[in-house]
Amino acid sequence: MTTTAAPDVTAAGRSDIAHHLHPYTQLRQLEQDGPLVIVQGDGVHVVDEHGKRYLEGMAGLWCASLGFSERRLADAAHRQMLQLPYYHAFSGKVPGPVTELVKTLMAWAPTPELQRGRVLFANSGSESNDTAFKLVRYYNNARGRPAKKKIIARQKGYHGVTAAAASLSGLPTMHQHFDLPLPGVLRVSAPHFYGNGKPGETEAQFVDRLVQELQDLIAAEGADTIAAFIAEPVQGAGGVVIPPDGYFPRIQAVLKQHDILLIADEVITGFGRLGQPFGTNVFGLQPDMVTVAKMLTSAYVPMSALMVSDAVYQVVADASASVGTFGHGYTYSGHPLACAVALETLRIYTDDDIIGHVQRVAPRLQAGLRQFAEHPLVGEARGLGLIGALELAADPASRKPFDPKRGVGAYLVKRAQAHGLILRVLAGDIIAFSPPLVITEAQIDELLAKTALALDDTLAWVR
Ligand code: PLP
Repeated sequence: MTTTAAPDVTAAGRSDIAHHLHPYTQLRQLEQDGPLVIVQGDGVHVVDEHGKRYLEGMAGLWCASLGFSERRLADAAHRQMLQLPYYHAFSGKVPGPVTELVKTLMAWAPTPELQRGRVLFANSGSESNDTAFKLVRYYNNARGRPAKKKIIARQKGYHGVTAAAASLSGLPTMHQHFDLPLPGVLRVSAPHFYGNGKPGETEAQFVDRLVQELQDLIAAEGADTIAAFIAEPVQGAGGVVIPPDGYFPRIQAVLKQHDILLIADEVITGFGRLGQPFGTNVFGLQPDMVTVAKMLTSAYVPMSALMVSDAVYQVVADASASVGTFGHGYTYSGHPLACAVALETLRIYTDDDIIGHVQRVAPRLQAGLRQFAEHPLVGEARGLGLIGALELAADPASRKPFDPKRGVGAYLVKRAQAHGLILRVLAGDIIAFSPPLVITEAQIDELLAKTALALDDTLAWVR
């Protein structure tokens, strides 16, 4: 039964409640509270329908890297709309701007093997991960390995919401009532030492345990049934999980030994969030496929891409010749508007040395977050580059979490909003930080000061 909206919900809010099925929202709660209607953006700030300004501490959904008013992107979009608003890349055609974008992307690609490879465009991270899911099947069928199809994914992983991408994701709310995951997805633990480490276990022992878990799974299932392993270099929506030292090199060695492809989901980490172009660079990965989205266009228009290594491409190309076509692609794969915006975004990253800027300002965010580790509500403060998290705890010493039903993290985010800061709560009362990459040190100080107010408000409420 629809609930009644609170009296302060505006006309715009009422219209929204009446007709909009919101993504990732407790819908009954929304019917009462109404939405926060955002109508404008400038720099790292957004403005609501009442004119209240917020520092966007999440860059929207980890994506608006250049903030909310980059004129060069608007101009690039406008020029492209006038010149060629749409064309496609099916059956031997290609929109002009794609030809330049693939060249630019290849120069960004994090490994030589990917730089020699190919890029397949889509409109969202979900679609690109869905494409990867399909492509590993195609690849192994083409290699005459039809049994080698399963994909290993991790708990707390987030790979998107198509049926395949949600299946790869390791968050229970993405599966409940959807009859997911699909068959063929295997699961291993998240490299979350704070949450998954056993009492007395060192980080090195924790890594040993995760490597053993992977080896045991491969032995039990049979390597000849496993096609790929998918991982975010830093798990984002699952809690901003920074892998412990040694984790990826050890995992990667096991995968190589068993001819299991590595898919790096760089949808959040791609294009500088960690202070390096990709997480692949940070952790020394050698992925066979990489998915990117979000900061590829600074989120100004939807676009994602799947980079595939030359070795994978060659197999796929041979198979397309025997099948008659590579039977996959979206109407908007390589949409010219998105290409133009992506190209301009990548030019700005270079012109303005955005990655250098992240390296310069990130220590301020990380040091500020680490100071909150002393706060009585905080179990762990963690992060890397311009991504971070505060994991709240009822008893930080024993890492005892709050009862999820209390909604402590949600309360904190509400208080932050009251103080003019937009943050996001992740499952487990984890508060995420992922500001636009253009944030200044002074704005980071503002973000930290508002966070401190929200933490203190929440402490008063909890007690
Ligand atoms: N992969 C990762 C790591 C993500 O964080 C997300 C979205 O947050 C996705 C994939 C899905 O991307 P999209 O929402 O564009 O489909």
